[in-house]
Order: sequence, then C-alpha cells, then structure tokens
Amino acid sequence: MRLFVWHNLGLVLAGSFSVMAAIVLLVWYTMHVRAQSFRRIQELLFVDPVSGLGNMNMFYREALALVQNNPQGQHVLVCLDIVHFRHVNYQFGYQTGNEVLAAMGRRLRAWTGAGECCARLSGGHFACCLTARDWHELKGRLQALGEDFERSCRERKFDSSVRLVAGIALVQNLKMPLYRWLDQANYARREALRKPGRSFLVYNSRMQREQQRRKVLEERLELAVQHREFVPYFQPKVNMLDGSLVGSEALARWQHPGEGLIGPAHFIPVFEASGTIDKVDFCIYEGVCRCLQEWMQQGLQVLPVSCNFSAISFRRANFVQRIVETADRYGIPRNLLELELTESAFTNNAQVLASRMRELAALGFAISVDDFGCGYSSLGQLQHLRPQALKLDRSFISNGLSTQQARLILSTVISLARGLDMGLVCEGVETREQREALIAMGCQVGQGFYYAGPMPAEDFARILEKGSLK
Ligand code: C2E
Ligand code: MG
Ligand code: MG
Repeated sequence: MRLFVWHNLGLVLAGSFSVMAAIVLLVWYTMHVRAQSFRRIQELLFVDPVSGLGNMNMFYREALALVQNNPQGQHVLVCLDIVHFRHVNYQFGYQTGNEVLAAMGRRLRAWTGAGECCARLSGGHFACCLTARDWHELKGRLQALGEDFERSCRERKFDSSVRLVAGIALVQNLKMPLYRWLDQANYARREALRKPGRSFLVYNSRMQREQQRRKVLEERLELAVQHREFVPYFQPKVNMLDGSLVGSEALARWQHPGEGLIGPAHFIPVFEASGTIDKVDFCIYEGVCRCLQEWMQQGLQVLPVSCNFSAISFRRANFVQRIVETADRYGIPRNLLELELTESAFTNNAQVLASRMRELAALGFAISVDDFGCGYSSLGQLQHLRPQALKLDRSFISNGLSTQQARLILSTVISLARGLDMGLVCEGVETREQREALIAMGCQVGQGFYYAGPMPAEDFARILEKGSLK
C-alpha cells in the first residue's frame, strides 16, 4: 500500500485535494442555502411584502431597540390608519388597494428619519416610532403627511372620506412594555376616528381614565349577568289620541353594586366595542320575559314590550333560536314581544339582517327600526327589510316642528310608513304642543317624557293594574 502511494504520489495528492475541495464546497453550499432560507424566514417573519415595510414583529424589535438605545430621545408612538381603506378595495379592487399600501410604505420610509422606524400592522394600519422635539414639530409633520396622502387620493379620485387619522402616545416610562404604548396610541387613534374633522389625537389622562373605566366594566360583565344586575326599565307607548296605553319599551339599566344605577349611554358603547353586548341584550330580554310571566300570573292585562338589540346580537348565529327558546321557556306569547333594531345596524351586511328579520316575523315576533331617520339607512332598504314598525328618531321632534321644512319631512315619513303598512311610533314627545302637532300630521302612537319616562318594573306593573297612565 505504502509502495503504491509512493509510486503514485501525484495522483493520491490530487485525489485527496479533490475530495477535500468537494467537502469544502458541500459545506459552503449547505451554509449558503441555510443562510438563504434563514433570510427568507426572516423576511416572512418580519417584512410586509405589500408595503415593503416591517410588520408588527419587526416594529416591536426595532422600536424597542430605538427607545432603549436612546433613553433621552423624546419618543412617540404613532398609530396611523387609512380611514375607509376597505372602500378602496371594494370600489377599485385589491390591486389598487395594494398600490395604495405600497405608496404609503414609500411615503413613510421617506417621512421617517434616522433613529425612527415604521411598519404596517394590518389592513390600512401603520405604526411609527418617532422622535419629536415638541408638539409643534410633530403636528407639522403629521399634517404634511396627511395632506400628501389626501392629494394622492384626490388624484386617484377616491371618495373624500378616505383620509389619514393618527393616535399618538408619548413614551414616558421606559419600564412599561412597548405594546402598552402601542395600545395607548391605538386608543387615541380610535377616538380620532370617531371625531369628525380631527385627524390626530394624543393619548391623555382623560383617555386613560376612560380606558380604565371600560376595563372595570368589562371585567364585571360576567358577574353582572349572573347576578342579574342589568334590569329593564319600562317606558310607556301611548295612543296620543285618547292617552291609552298601547305597550312599552324596555330600556336597560345597570344596578351596579358600587356605583348605583347606571344608564345605557355609559355601558352600551363599551360592550358594543368589545362585542359582548349580546350578553346585556339577552339579560334584558330575559328580564322582560320574566316580568311578563309574573304580570300574566298576577292576572294583569299585559301589552307588547319592545326590547332593544344591538346589530352584534342580531348577527349571532343562534340569535333566532335564543329569542324563541327564551320566550317559550317563560311561556310568553310571541305577539307580546317586539324587537327593536337601530337604523345604523343596516349599514353593513343588510342581507343577513333581512333574512333574520323575515325568519323572526314568520315566527310571530314583530320587529321595528329604532331611531329611524338618523341618516344611515336608505329608504330602499325598507322594501327588503319589511319591518312591522318605524320608531321615528326624537331628533325629528326636538329639532323643531316649527319650521315648514321640518313638518314636511315628518309628514312625508308618516305617510311613507302608512303607505308601506308599517306602524309608526314617535319618540321623544315632551310637550303638549309636540303631541298636538304630531296628531295633526297623522301620527298616533307616541313615547316620551310628556307621558312618562322609563320606570322600574314595579311602577310599570301599577300602571298595568290601573289600566291607564293617570
Ligand atoms: P332608544 O332605544 O332610542 O330609547 C329611547 C331613549 O330616549 C331612552 O334613553 C329614553 O329614556 C329616552 N327618551 C324617551 N323619551 C324621551 C323624551 O321625551 N326626551 C328625551 N330627551 N329622551 C327621551 P335611554 O334609556 O338612556 O336609552 C338610550 C339608548 O340606549 C336607547 O335608545 C337604546 O339605543 C340603547 N339601549 C337601551 N337599552 C338597551 C338594551 O337593552 N340593549 C341595547 N343594545 N341598547 C339599549
Ligand atoms: Mg329603542
Ligand atoms: Mg330610539
């Protein structure tokens, strides 16, 4: 063997070299492929392919590093939102939507400087970590960004409602996790979204208190439902011609053990925002069924009661089933129950609502459109939805029946309801003059403080007992 190697030294050396080279090449190739895959995985994990910016993961990493490496720099987190971005996709298609996002990515990259970063979080939502010397400077930058965006929207002939809003949180306490700042900026963004004309808002102590309050209410919800803390108050509906009682509306009140009686304006929007409002709605609905059962057992002459339902509840898959099951469990005839759905519910996915309304009507429940005339639904929808009644929003009456125009609008709605064979209830009747004007225009049923405000079940039972409001 040794002799063979000695005689063929050149060949052996060349062979060994080739094997070594092949091994080195193989190792290099494997490492290269792995590095490439690693880069690709990193890209998938951290880069948003549509805007070319980082994504949420990247933002957490970069923003945290920026804040930690420069604790003296006055950092702010900004949550940006393209309002009605959905409409761009619907109206112009996904390709245009993607172009808008890509342009926004380029715009934000040019807008942010050294020591700053930005990312797309989802849909039309972006986040930036900026350094701001003062509010003036930040406001100027945001205004310029908003104007630039709006200019590009005009060029593309987008609807004027497509605009930029921003929520801003000042990073003050470095010990607080970054996502908390992002939550704060996001909260301010949502408030800015609700305020017409306000394009950006800074998270402040009022918002902090409000957020805290919402959290406390949400945490209590389950227990409140279990303890039946949500109770119906009843407001009479009256035949305005002779003052006789024709029914009532159940209005939610929260008998909070610590805070006393809370009105719906303080908790309905909170639970609507968190999507848990159905728990309250069904608690009230069941409370109404319980009252009706009790009153029937006492031999009282009961009248129909209408219950308010948020669109969120109405859209729940088992909604109809729960309505039927609860009414049957308490033995309540269906003609004693009416469901009120606010007009604003009809803006999204009206088909689902229409089919649900038909289903409920076929089962014998009446449905009315609440706050009709607030300005959301198109009159054409009434044709498909076919509610049994319209509840005219009280702004019709409170905005003055004095002008010729206001009276004309009102009498047109009254004859529309009559023409479509729907019942009509006028909400917010507060004075004798209003009652008389409404009667003269042909509206028969009214509800309002002129007759009575919402009252506890015991008080309403006394009215039923007497058979009249007097
Ligand atoms: P809504 O269903 O339109 O109820 C009528 C509201 O107008 C009630 O306010 C009632 O107290 C008030 N009101 C009645 N007559 C007059 C009047 O003559 N003048 C004035 N200024 N106001 C009058 P409330 O009880 O504070 O309820 C507010 C809203 O909260 C309700 O408006 C309804 O949209 C919502 N809500 C109440 N209960 C529930 C519920 O169980 N579920 C859901 N989802 N929403 C509810
Ligand atoms: Mg109502
Ligand atoms: Mg109403």
